[in-house]
Amino acid sequence: MRARLVLLGSKGGPAIRPGGPSPTASLLEIGDRTIVVDCGLGVTRGLTDAGVSLKALHLVFITHLHSDHVLELGPLIHTAWTAGLATTVTVFGPPGTRDYWQGFLQAMRFDIDIRIVDEGRPDLRQLVDIVEFQQGEVLREGGLTVSALRVDHPPVTECFALRFDHAGASVVFSADTAYFPPLADFARGADILVHEAMLAEGVDRLVARTGNGARLKEHLLASHSFAGDAGRIATAAGVGRLLLNHLIPADDPAIGAADWVAATRKSWAGALTIASDGLVVEIADDSSA
Ligand SMILES: [Zn+2]
Ligand SMILES: [Zn+2]
Repeated sequence: MRARLVLLGSKGGPAIRPGGPSPTASLLEIGDRTIVVDCGLGVTRGLTDAGVSLKALHLVFITHLHSDHVLELGPLIHTAWTAGLATTVTVFGPPGTRDYWQGFLQAMRFDIDIRIVDEGRPDLRQLVDIVEFQQGEVLREGGLTVSALRVDHPPVTECFALRFDHAGASVVFSADTAYFPPLADFARGADILVHEAMLAEGVDRLVARTGNGARLKEHLLASHSFAGDAGRIATAAGVGRLLLNHLIPADDPAIGAADWVAATRKSWAGALTIASDGLVVEIADDSSA
């Protein structure tokens, strides 16, 4: 089976605007598994557009509970259920993920109960396992290893970078983080580092448009990485490819891929990709050779 990474949603932050990209969600197909990493708004449509049958939903990982990473988790699983999901979905998330799921089930209780009785569906509540993880090894199963590193995303303390290793292939997601040097060790030698990125020249225009200027800018600067920081991590880690994702800003007409590349080239000379919704990156996986 081919291994590939598909960026379903590439923007940082929860707001969407006409013609703009969607918040964070990624699809990782590796070692015969369909893995969803983060569930921002649009993840369900993104998966089906990438050709994934929702019935095959199996493993979901959430890096942290900011809405641009988790808002559509419940709707994704519920929609998969209405599409015929009959096997267990395991959701790995930080502490608080179980509360989110219980709250979603409560909010949708009328619909869930009526579809069980009226359409003969299995009980959605029995189809989902929630695993709340901490830093360290999250999963080791059939050649797939997943590990987590707590990153620096104040005021959120439970935010984790994730590393997926299978058959000599490895993909690391930075999650949301300020410049965080330990991430370089965590991502050491990875084939692909998906790192969040912000462009300084776009931040002022972005906060002006959003309306809560000073506070938002303060949050962005304390909690996120500039593109050059992502490049520094990629260089220190010696990764095969740096993929800039969770772009801030993502829909500023004055900023294009060339600006991201220029900002990153100061600290990273290797393979570089700037994320966009639907972008596919093929992964060389020994097991498919
Ligand atoms: Zn985010
Ligand atoms: Zn965040």
